[in-house]
Parts: sequence; structure tokens; C-alpha cells
Amino acid sequence: MDKAYTVGNKTFVLDQEKAEKAFAEKRVINGRQSMCFNLLPLKYHWAYDLYKTMKANHWEPEDVIMNRDIEQWKDQTIVNEVERWIIMMGIGYFSAAEGIVGDNILHVVREQVTAPELKLVLGRHAHEENVHADSLLYMISSLGINPHECEAMFEDVETIVKKNAFVTEASHALRGDTDLSLTENKQKLAKNIFIFGQCMEGTQFYGLFGMVLSLYRQNKFRGIGEMFRYTLRDESNHIELFRNLFMDLIEENPDVWTEEFQEELRATMAEAVKLEKEFIEDCLPVDSIGLRKQDFVHYIDYIADRRLEGCGLDPLVGNVQNPLPWLAEMMDIKKEQNFFEGRVTEYQKASSLEIEDDDDL
Ligand code: FE
Ligand code: MN
Repeated sequence: MDKAYTVGNKTFVLDQEKAEKAFAEKRVINGRQSMCFNLLPLKYHWAYDLYKTMKANHWEPEDVIMNRDIEQWKDQTIVNEVERWIIMMGIGYFSAAEGIVGDNILHVVREQVTAPELKLVLGRHAHEENVHADSLLYMISSLGINPHECEAMFEDVETIVKKNAFVTEASHALRGDTDLSLTENKQKLAKNIFIFGQCMEGTQFYGLFGMVLSLYRQNKFRGIGEMFRYTLRDESNHIELFRNLFMDLIEENPDVWTEEFQEELRATMAEAVKLEKEFIEDCLPVDSIGLRKQDFVHYIDYIADRRLEGCGLDPLVGNVQNPLPWLAEMMDIKKEQNFFEGRVTEYQKASSLEIEDDDDL
């Protein structure tokens, strides 16, 4: 018997028997591989919903006005060397990091997952990393920064090189043919998804995000800050995407979820936190822009614990209060009415104004 099937405001007629078979064959990994992009019947509703949310959040860097940022960049009496350094670090680090994330999605995660709606949302995720990379290009060209200088920073600063190696190793280990019937390889993939979503995008991005937004809060480089806020809104969806993917992968493959593996993931997060703190210590002049280093470092612990708990893992520190509540507020775009002024509003649908996990940051 045929049955009407509804997704959002669209209705489809599906052959019941075939639909049930297709549904049963949908898996995060090791599911049915077909040339058709069989989105229906949807199994992973969260993935389709998230795809719609992400699409409604579309933004273009050029919509952000940079005139004041350019004036400030040139004027020594408004911004000092430390503040300029933070902007250079932000641009340098994220130029590389966004590329690494996008590359891992395309060459590892989207390659390995089998359900079409998961591939759909991962395609959107990769696209958003392109938008972020493009926004950095826009900052570089607006301020007249030498891109080679930013690049060199990324290659020469040891604490950045270490952060970089931490994620790329997890990515390169999974290229090419991987037999995902083996628990060991499934764990490698789960770990990759955990590292990229929770450790990198979820934790290690936040040191620099916090620094740039702290300047924004002092009315310095508002255009750049605005782009970082849009980027952060996207990142919160990426973190949620990878968290859901991780949870469903575990649920479908309980052999992965051993106690040893859970401890391995907690140790991996501890390593990520250590690298981020070393980076903050080494590169971010926290104290000089009105932040207390202690609060800032504490903030990383706070975020890392939230990420672990989101994945059903025990926190590393436990009972950490958010030491920088203004930062959470700054990341919650919804609260600021005027934020969508200008052409950007044209991309907005009503749904995009709702960020579900605003307290997740
Ligand atoms: Fe990004
Ligand atoms: Mn991202």
C-alpha cells in the first residue's frame, strides 16, 4: 500500500514496502551505497532539519561594511600593536583551520558515511567552510595585509603547528580504503568525528574567537567581529552536526563504545585543551586587552567539559562555571535585533533567527 509521507510542508507518496526496505538499509556507515541520492524516506531527520537551518543562515562576507575597520587598522592612536597582532593571528589561524576542516569533511567524513541526508548536510558544512575562508580573504584584502605573513605565522609558530598536527594526523590516517567492518577502524572514524567537531571546532576555535570578540566589544574592528559572529553561528551548527553524527554512529555500532575508547576520547580532549592553553600562553596577549588570563584559560575548561558531556562522556574538570558570560551573550546573535540590517536579511528565513543551542556556547 502507498502512503503519503510528509517532510516539512511537502508531501510525497512512497511505496510502503520499498520505503521500509530503503529505510532499513540507511546507516551512518556500512549502509546501502547507490548512485541515486535517495533522501526519502528520511531516517536522520535532524540532518535534514539542520541542513535547512544552515541554508537559511547563509551570509556573504561582502555584505559586511569594512570602512571603519580599515580606518582603525591605519590609525595608531585607536588600535595598538597588540590588537593588530590579534587580528593577524585570527586571520592566519582560521585561514588554515577552515581549510583543514573542509578538507576532512570532503575526503574523510562525507566519503565514509552512507546515508544520503547525512551527505547532504555535510556538503553544506563543507560549503560553509568555503564561506569562512572567503571571509578571511575579504579581511586580508580590505586591510591590505600581506597573506604570506599570515601564512608564515601558521607555519612558524610552534604552538600553532602542534594544534595543526593534532587534527591533520587524525584526518590523514583515514584516507583511502578503510575497512569499516572492523571495530578498530570504526573507532578511528568516530575519533576523527570527535576531534574535528568537539575538540577543534568545538574547543580550539574558541581562544581566538574570544579574543577577536573582546575587541569587537570594545568597538574595535566591528566589521571583522561581525564576520566572526556569523562564523560562530555556523560553527555552533557544525559542532551539533558532528555531535549528532557521532552519537548515531555509536548507537548503530555499540562495539565501538568500549570503556577504553571512552577514556581515549577523554584523553584526546585533554590533549586538545593542553594545546589550546599552550597556544593562548604563547600567542594571545590576553591580559593586555582587558581580559584576565585566568578567566580565559578557565573558559577553555568550561567549553571542553560541555563538549564531553554532549557526547555522553565524563567531564575533565567538572562543575566549571562560565567565567566569561559576556562571551556567551556575544555569540548569541538572536539577542541583537539590528544584527541583520542590510542586505544580509535577504538570505534570512524566519527559522534562521532561532539558534537552538545558544546556551551551548
Ligand atoms: Fe568554519
Ligand atoms: Mn566549521
